[in-house]
Amino acid sequence: MPDLYDTVIIGAGPAGVSAAIYAARAGLNALWLDNSFIPGGQIADSGNVDNYPGIPGISGVELGETMAAHAARFSMEPVRAKVLRIDRTEDNAWLIHTKKNDYQTRTVIFAAGASHRHLGIPGEEELGGSGVSYCATCDGAFFKDMDTVVIGGGNTACEDALFLSKICRKVYLVHRRDALRADQAAAYPVLHTANIEVLWNTVPEEIIGTDVVTGLRVKDVKTGEESVRNVSGVFIAVGMEPASALVSDLVDIDETGYVIADETCVTSAPGFFAAGDIRTKPLRQVVTAVADGANAVASVQKFLREAG
Ligand code: NAP
Repeated sequence: MPDLYDTVIIGAGPAGVSAAIYAARAGLNALWLDNSFIPGGQIADSGNVDNYPGIPGISGVELGETMAAHAARFSMEPVRAKVLRIDRTEDNAWLIHTKKNDYQTRTVIFAAGASHRHLGIPGEEELGGSGVSYCATCDGAFFKDMDTVVIGGGNTACEDALFLSKICRKVYLVHRRDALRADQAAAYPVLHTANIEVLWNTVPEEIIGTDVVTGLRVKDVKTGEESVRNVSGVFIAVGMEPASALVSDLVDIDETGYVIADETCVTSAPGFFAAGDIRTKPLRQVVTAVADGANAVASVQKFLREAG
């Protein structure tokens, strides 16, 4: 049998980093696993994070690196491994299976986060990487002086549209309703930028192109009228999907796929804790994710104390 850890933290986004720091400082025998080579999880996709107190106006990549370096000060560095399966053992511990190793642990802090939701329309998968993107800050520079479209009405869509408006000739924002979901700080500049045109009550129907994107067919949901916008880039920003498939048989999940847990990060399975964007919560932000990392470790300590 492999060594028995106090906790295994899965994920190196803000929740996972925070859990790693708190676990190390609490003196837990903790292992940290992550699949990615880029620290920070989703924030690595963010061009500018300006709402994390104490660190104003930092790029997502830099914030991720800063957080990882902070954890490294406590000798916490993620082991690069993709978790393939998690099992409950007969003596109520957990067995984490990765490609190379199995790890045994008394508790799990699951901070696997979420990934970009797809639209499921024709052309989306076929033209992925050939004009279809889920990250404006990563790919926007490829569309200099071209026309592009952003799909969605949330903060990400608005930030993407604004980012692209500084690079592209024209940016369409396609939103399915008549009001943006984004907060005022993100929405206002979008509505007051000359080269951004919002297509209200409009849904995307098909991404057009053979080798590369050449257009987007959209439908006005009020009139049913269809039209094509000739664009070279389609940026999809319609929210996130929680990475909970791995644990859907182990813990209770809500109807949208998030692991059910309150701010204590306690789930329906004893010894299994969910932190960050993976859990049910009203606001998914870096600050709420790092708070979860700390709370999850406090819950792990309580669990270990009570289990004796
Ligand atoms: P979001 O807030 O869930 O917004 C998703 C948007 O996509 C909504 O406008 C939604 O329309 C639309 N949408 C969803 N499915 C669609 C579909 N199939 N077809 C067309 N449109 C669709 O997602 P997000 O913008 O990625 O933000 C996620 C979280 O991160 C939020 O809590 C957000 O506040 C936060 N965030 C914060 C910052 C920041 O503070 N700097 C930046 C980015 C994100 P409806 O409005 O009609 O539902």
